[in-house]
Amino acid sequence: MTLVEANKIIDRLIYGCNWHRFNEPGVQQEYQRVLMRYGYAQMDNAVDRLLESDSKNVPPMSALVKACKENKQSTTEAHNDEYCYICNDKGYLFMTEKTPKYDNMPAQYALHCICPMGISQAYEGMNCKPEDRRPYRVPSVTEYFDEQAIEDMKKENRKKVHMADEQIEAARDRLATIGVRMPYVDHGDAWEGEAPC
Ligand SMILES: [Zn+2]
Repeated sequence: MTLVEANKIIDRLIYGCNWHRFNEPGVQQEYQRVLMRYGYAQMDNAVDRLLESDSKNVPPMSALVKACKENKQSTTEAHNDEYCYICNDKGYLFMTEKTPKYDNMPAQYALHCICPMGISQAYEGMNCKPEDRRPYRVPSVTEYFDEQAIEDMKKENRKKVHMADEQIEAARDRLATIGVRMPYVDHGDAWEGEAPC
């Protein structure tokens, strides 16, 4: 997910629980960093399930990650195991093109991505049963963009997503100068400090 989506999840946790530690230094950044490794829809679902069982405390990052992974196993919906930098895990992207039929007015067309989530959104109206046949389709991004262009897209999106990481690192450095240590997290599991009573 993107930073904006990670913040949406954090807002849900803040408003959904009676008690949280997001006002402590480094906690929000740490959640952002880990959340951004996972898909938004899956994590949103995981939050639903965790808040159903306990809405008093914000679940530790490790519980969120566990629920998110279980969720992936139980869902039949397509999902990406790895974050897709082509479509930012949405499965589709939009392309603007002129339409000669309508005075060259620019219109947006959806293209499906080549990641698992994207493949699940491919649509070929003419391949449907005869009674459902339509002249519409959601073609693959590869029909419109060559390999180099797709690589450039990935690079650009990766840059945007990781800019947030750099900001977190900068915050870490600033906090260090005033003697506050922002914890590092390894292997995908987040810091779980003891909650003050
Ligand atoms: Zn994709």
